[in-house]
Amino acid sequence: MRDWLKREPIVIVDAKGAVLRDSRGRQYLDANSSIWTNLHGHRHPKINAALRRQLGKIAHSSALGLASVPASFLAQKLVRAANAGPARTAARQLRRVFFSDDGSTAVEAALKMAHQFACRACPGREPKFLALGGAYHGDTIGAVSLGHIDLFHRAYGGLLFKSDSVPAPYCYRCPFNRATPERADAREYRRCHWECAGLVEQKFEARQSKGGYAAFVFEPLMQGAAGMIAHPKGWLRRVAAIARAHGALLIADEVMTGFGRSGALFACHQESVQPDLMALAKGMTGGYLPMAATLVTQRIFNAFLGRYDEFKTFYHGHSYTANQLGAAASLASLDILQSARCQAARRILEKTLARELQSLWSLPAVGDIRQAGLMAGVELVKNWKTREPFAARDRVGLRVCQALARRGVLTRPVGDVIVLMPPYCTTPAQARRMVAALREAVAEVC
Ligand SMILES: *Cc1c(COP(=O)(O)O)cnc(C)c1O
Repeated sequence: MRDWLKREPIVIVDAKGAVLRDSRGRQYLDANSSIWTNLHGHRHPKINAALRRQLGKIAHSSALGLASVPASFLAQKLVRAANAGPARTAARQLRRVFFSDDGSTAVEAALKMAHQFACRACPGREPKFLALGGAYHGDTIGAVSLGHIDLFHRAYGGLLFKSDSVPAPYCYRCPFNRATPERADAREYRRCHWECAGLVEQKFEARQSKGGYAAFVFEPLMQGAAGMIAHPKGWLRRVAAIARAHGALLIADEVMTGFGRSGALFACHQESVQPDLMALAKGMTGGYLPMAATLVTQRIFNAFLGRYDEFKTFYHGHSYTANQLGAAASLASLDILQSARCQAARRILEKTLARELQSLWSLPAVGDIRQAGLMAGVELVKNWKTREPFAARDRVGLRVCQALARRGVLTRPVGDVIVLMPPYCTTPAQARRMVAALREAVAEVC
């Protein structure tokens, strides 16, 4: 807070596509899609037009006991998209949609639903949740309780409930082997025997006598705020099967990974995993408005049906739930997302990023480069041979991002991991400029 007060903030006044402009007329590439929300660029003509059309009708009406046209169509579209993957049976399909306002509330709703579902399935047993080490699922108390970031737990410890964790499959800092080579030619480091998946199995086994876990919560393919931890191919498929075999529900937090970020529409489908609950937010409106959704199976929905005086309804709702403007923006964004043109652009951007990022390996401070689809993280270290991190007081990640801003590129670090997550409209030339600026910034600071 003290550092923030000492600096003049950059005041963003307008934008077009992947370029933001500040009050002094300086331009910046939006290298983290305005904290992972923007998909198709700023002021997209189709989303702008959809919002104008909706403004001509109504901006918002309550969703408590009422429905609306755009939110109903959006629910239908989300359900279709969420079942286009590996849901082979009706029981596996995500059929019901609960709207809320942001990622934290989408997770919070999923948590409460899973909790109630478990309580009704096994009365008298306190449901327990399993999440990944370092996980981040939002900032409300329930979402923080599911998360495992020590700093947050220290700050809010007394307010949180206890959830269990298993180590994330963080290959670069794997305690079992050196699964990820520092340099592409160091192949001898690859000696992985899925010890991390074994730990997940042990965790479930150990809990079995106490009734098992109510749900296993995870970000598929890439954990964002945990430090851009990309999971090795096959890990999620393995651990999801373990969780299912032990009777736990699967809660996929696709708040960051959803809506094309991973390459596919939803990241868990890339591992052939169909969750029972799915939390969506950030990119849902294309980065225009706060809106979120929690998708669930019919079986979970049914647990909230009953006679009036059984009071089984899901006691959770927000004033702006299913906001009509947000739904209109989301519908337009989904249309763009599913167009052949956007899909082709995403493939090209993913390849351009992968190719350009390779050039960073020559910098001694670059310890690891992790990419999943259009999400990338570059982990900076003091010593690439020993993987020793920089001291926190050196604020290396922050300083690299400040050096990036001076070069016309805006992003935020997670510790000493620099995040590149550009909007899908980013051209190959703009992507090259982002990475070139990062190369210079790292060379300058480290
Ligand atoms: C950002 C994020 C959240 C929280 O979303 P907010 O909209 O910021 O509340 C939850 N989960 C993941 C994976 C996120 O990246």
